[in-house]
Amino acid sequence: MARRFIVRDDDITRLNDKNIKIKGTEVKHIQVLRHNINDEIIVNENIYKIIDMTRDTIDLEYIKEALVIGVPKTNITLYIAFLKSDKMDYLVQKAVEIGVKRIVPFFSKNVVVKLDEKSKVKRREKLQKIADEACKQCGRMDTVNIEEFLNFNELKDSLKEDKIFFAYEASKDSLRREINDMKQRNINNIGIIIGAEGGFLESEAEELNKLDNVCCVSLGERILRAETAAINLLSILIYEMEE
Ligand code: SAM
Repeated sequence: MARRFIVRDDDITRLNDKNIKIKGTEVKHIQVLRHNINDEIIVNENIYKIIDMTRDTIDLEYIKEALVIGVPKTNITLYIAFLKSDKMDYLVQKAVEIGVKRIVPFFSKNVVVKLDEKSKVKRREKLQKIADEACKQCGRMDTVNIEEFLNFNELKDSLKEDKIFFAYEASKDSLRREINDMKQRNINNIGIIIGAEGGFLESEAEELNKLDNVCCVSLGERILRAETAAINLLSILIYEMEE
């Protein structure tokens, strides 16, 4: 099978209704791998033939859609409080492998990481790169977006999925019951909220709990690290929805 590259919309120019010109980091990558004119490659979800190359751009002729494999059937968004550097990187990679569709990092009161606006842009680019690499490595034919980082109020306003599992260690509510409810209602658009190393303030948890589409669930008596909690809940939901 042809090798796959992920190119963001900003780096794609339409040459006509089928052919495209690409620029950016994947151009360098394609050149390092010594691809040449007439080679077939996959860009995002389509197979193309290379028809022209310069130092910074590559022109591609559309051949056909690539075979869609590895794309999760359930639409899961992970809302994750911003974790310390390597934990965030690790979690993004693992969440993409397991089958998350979107990742939305947020800053609540107990998040220890502080980023200025410039660092947020850089950090988001790095996480997006990790997500893209993970998609390629695990053979998913779709992409996973790292969305703009939110503050707690923005988080509350953006929780639009049909059902959102809020993992809260103080909850006594059964995950099993909420999973059964999700299955009975044929819900396919879900969210997961996981707190930072320091967890949520009680007042924040109460605010999330008030939202109609949010259910507050326990992951058991043991307190898990945030990245463990995210991977655990994500794996359970994917298993339940895709078996
Ligand atoms: N507040 C806690 C503390 O400092 O003792 C720890 C927070 S925990 C390390 C990070 C996040 O993982 C929590 O905010 C929650 O979303 C999730 N989490 C960890 N263990 C959990 C459990 N047993 N049930 C539900 N959620 C859990």
